[in-house]
Amino acid sequence: MEVRACVVLQDSQAKPSGYSLHQLQGNKAHGTERIGTLYKKSEGLRKVWQKRKCSVKNGFLTIPHGTANRPPAKLNLLTCQVKSSPDEKKSFDLFSHDRTYHFQAEDEADCQHWVSVLQNSKEEALNKAFKGDQDEGENNIVQELTRAIVEEVKRMSGNSCCCDCGAPDPTWLSTNLGVLICIECSGIHREMGVHYSRIQSLDLDMLGTSELLLAKNVGNASFNEVMEADLSAPDVTKPDPSSDMQVRKDFIMAKYTEKRFVRRQCADAAAQLQALYEAVRCRDILSLLQIYAEGVELREAIDQPNEHEPGETALHLAVRMVDRNSLHIVDFLAQNGGNLDQQTARGSTALHYCCLTDNSECLKLLLRGKASVSIMNEAGETPMDIAKRLRHAQCEEQLTQAQTGKFNVHVHPIPTRREERPVSCLLPGAASLARDKPRPQVPSMMMNNETYGTMMELPPPGPPLPPRGPSRGQAGTTNTDTKCDANDSRV
Ligand SMILES: [Zn+2]
Repeated sequence: MEVRACVVLQDSQAKPSGYSLHQLQGNKAHGTERIGTLYKKSEGLRKVWQKRKCSVKNGFLTIPHGTANRPPAKLNLLTCQVKSSPDEKKSFDLFSHDRTYHFQAEDEADCQHWVSVLQNSKEEALNKAFKGDQDEGENNIVQELTRAIVEEVKRMSGNSCCCDCGAPDPTWLSTNLGVLICIECSGIHREMGVHYSRIQSLDLDMLGTSELLLAKNVGNASFNEVMEADLSAPDVTKPDPSSDMQVRKDFIMAKYTEKRFVRRQCADAAAQLQALYEAVRCRDILSLLQIYAEGVELREAIDQPNEHEPGETALHLAVRMVDRNSLHIVDFLAQNGGNLDQQTARGSTALHYCCLTDNSECLKLLLRGKASVSIMNEAGETPMDIAKRLRHAQCEEQLTQAQTGKFNVHVHPIPTRREERPVSCLLPGAASLARDKPRPQVPSMMMNNETYGTMMELPPPGPPLPPRGPSRGQAGTTNTDTKCDANDSRV
């Protein structure tokens, strides 16, 4: 499988060291390995170019130390980003999590050669990592990748404080909403139940990267622009870190179950469905969140131009429109939309659509949510029948795993330090609600959707979305964030 994209890793707020696979593709002809001379700019005040015999292999760049008895630096390319230097044709930079390396090659062609090999090697390592083999070395790569994504999530806007009470350094994640909360507030989230919030620890649980999809694409600041748009109600007090549990509970219940602080923007049900359609079509997670917050029934069929089958829901639409940047849209609908098995007028479920389009990554997200594998469409075909007929081997493999009960195999062992989990002081015992949900066997963050665009026609651009509102919280202003660009890399 060729890695086409890595959807969770890019973020408008990301520092240069942030991951991205959306960078230039390497020239495949240069392969994945290389040994040769590079000049590395030294750190410190005296910037000098140091000659080093570097090598690239198995996803690592090895840079020998100037002093013979010191071990070489070994950089995991999965956690680095390579960029050609726009000014200096024979130079490139490599951003790791903690520093930037400046390199100079012999000449421009040599530089492009190095950059290609680095990209290719990184891609090869990712491919290996996501084949799901239980090989220890590969698991380590996935774990390292997961840790790096967690670090990026923690750096996102608003994520340094609890989404509900503002306590510093929250370490609990609502995986279906993509926000970080503190331990006290997480107890109340668990009480609400998993249909409102699925809580996992960023530190204790070994999260799958698929569980970080929404975290990487929502974040506390954006979430609260929608969910706390209007805190002016007289009977409401937003808790602070010192608030007692009752104050927290009143606020959190009002915020998440009643969605009391949301500014409604859609005039009626028809406008809501239209907005839902536009949010999915434009792959705009915050518009989708706004619609969810207005209480729109996400599983309702949407009348739309260019539908593949009549009676598609937002989830069907999201599956067939998914691209490298929008797997989180499918994830949001799968986790918050209510029913994964809704059928079109021709009996297709979202799983049927995944198998039609050979989209095994969406398939994993749906299987994780326990979508039914046995529903037949009007032609009498199950998703498996379609996968077999079209020879979509990865879909077939995932479905087989689901049918044989092997789908829930965890990529990572899960630590068992459960005594450290938050327990609500209001409802003893409620703390285990979100535990043990099934996870995909491998992270759902890559897609191979070569078939897209040929199998299904994408709808033409439509009218702009209704303002999501308050650009950064102010009513009546134009929402400059609402965009409808398939290449939008908000993620
Ligand atoms: Zn809190």
